[in-house]
Amino acid sequence: MSLIVQKFGGSSVADAESIKRVAKRIVDTKKAGNDIVVAVSAMGDSTDELLDLAHEVTPIPAPRELDMLLTAGERISMALLAMAIKSMGYDARSFTGSQAGMITDAQHGAARIVDVTPGRLRDALDEGAIAIVAGFQGFNRDTKDITTLGRGGSDTTAVALAAALGADICEIYTDVDGIFSADPRVVPKAHKLERVSSEEMLELAAAGAKVLYIRAVEYARRHGVTLHVRSSFNNNTGTIVYNPGATSPYATEILNGEPVEEPIIAGVAADLSEAKVTVVGVPDIPGKAAQIFKIVAKTNANVDMIVQNVSAASTGLTDISFTLPKSEGQQVLTALTNEQANVGFAGLQYDDQIGKLALVGAGMRTNTGVSAKLFESLFEAGINIEMISTSEIRISVVTRADTINQALRVVHTAFGLDSDDEAVVHGGTGR
Ligand code: ADP
Ligand code: ASP
Ligand code: MG
Repeated sequence: MSLIVQKFGGSSVADAESIKRVAKRIVDTKKAGNDIVVAVSAMGDSTDELLDLAHEVTPIPAPRELDMLLTAGERISMALLAMAIKSMGYDARSFTGSQAGMITDAQHGAARIVDVTPGRLRDALDEGAIAIVAGFQGFNRDTKDITTLGRGGSDTTAVALAAALGADICEIYTDVDGIFSADPRVVPKAHKLERVSSEEMLELAAAGAKVLYIRAVEYARRHGVTLHVRSSFNNNTGTIVYNPGATSPYATEILNGEPVEEPIIAGVAADLSEAKVTVVGVPDIPGKAAQIFKIVAKTNANVDMIVQNVSAASTGLTDISFTLPKSEGQQVLTALTNEQANVGFAGLQYDDQIGKLALVGAGMRTNTGVSAKLFESLFEAGINIEMISTSEIRISVVTRADTINQALRVVHTAFGLDSDDEAVVHGGTGR
């Protein structure tokens, strides 16, 4: 008998029919003799709808109340799913995040899990019941308040439960057949990956591949949890996210062993959520970059790429550009403007029409010519590169936002990633 954690995303439980379909799937796994803990997301796009509603009431909703509101979405789906399973003659019990023992820090909207105490889930399992847990939410012991784990956080709930319960596998059910070499909504010729290392998945998730939430991948990597990302709309094998050297027996059986050689490129991802700030006319003397980024750091903004231009010999002035989430742009501009006289720069430019493309693959470490090929494919498509950054297994470029989808497709083709078949998207709105 195995212990399986299954997570169903919003598109898999979008309406009553879908909830019944998912319930049947859970019951089938139970009938096969497994213990099951389920993490479930809010129905369809209901989290976005609740968020819209909050912003209709006030432009800046109070973080505590926003978490109260958003966690209601997962309470609805957990109860409906438990009802559906019970009506099929199997015992099921739903639990909120706090009932399930998801203990977090106090940061509303982006809380981190600090402990998991799943006593009530174990009791339910011992009594033969299926435990259904509301994803995306937790509880802080100091403030005694309800928290949320960040958008896409039900993935983290599932992984944290799998780690705490020592599950044999954590299955992430979604509206596509697995993790693809690119978002199949944008690149129809994307191919499904049989496996991807947690290291590569971390880079893809950080670069905007929202199929898995980055914090869930981090958690899985840290706790050695193997993930199986697959469709809730069919029974096909999906993609295994493995930790090299520590792949679970369940995954090894699916994969027929460890990979012989890692592919050079796992996939491409794009991110349209960032903006570029350029600090113009910065005196090119030691200490100025430190001064600027200290001001930025005080706002808690998450700076991503940084580029400093060569200074013009005649003026001794340089420009420094960096990218950051659009949502943090305004506060950083304000902070820098307040210190403009102190730092002595000439002005600020803000550009929120950028897109970031990332090419990811563990094989990049040992293969040369990857960046040349990337730049050439973009050049041939007439796409201008504005910024570049690299890690050991990733190359990222910034382009105009309106060229990003075309960029994804040409790079995908250039690296021989195109499949002969069109990828199927089974549901969801892509919101
Ligand atoms: P869920 O509601 O199940 O959590 P999400 O919408 O969060 O689903 O994630 C699934 C979506 O992620 C897919 O519908 C797809 O459009 C998008 N996606 C982006 N990049 C990829 C990728 N590399 N592979 C698969 N899906 C991807
Ligand atoms: N419902 C939450 C969201 O839309 C959490 C999740 O679905 O993972 O972000
Ligand atoms: Mg998701």
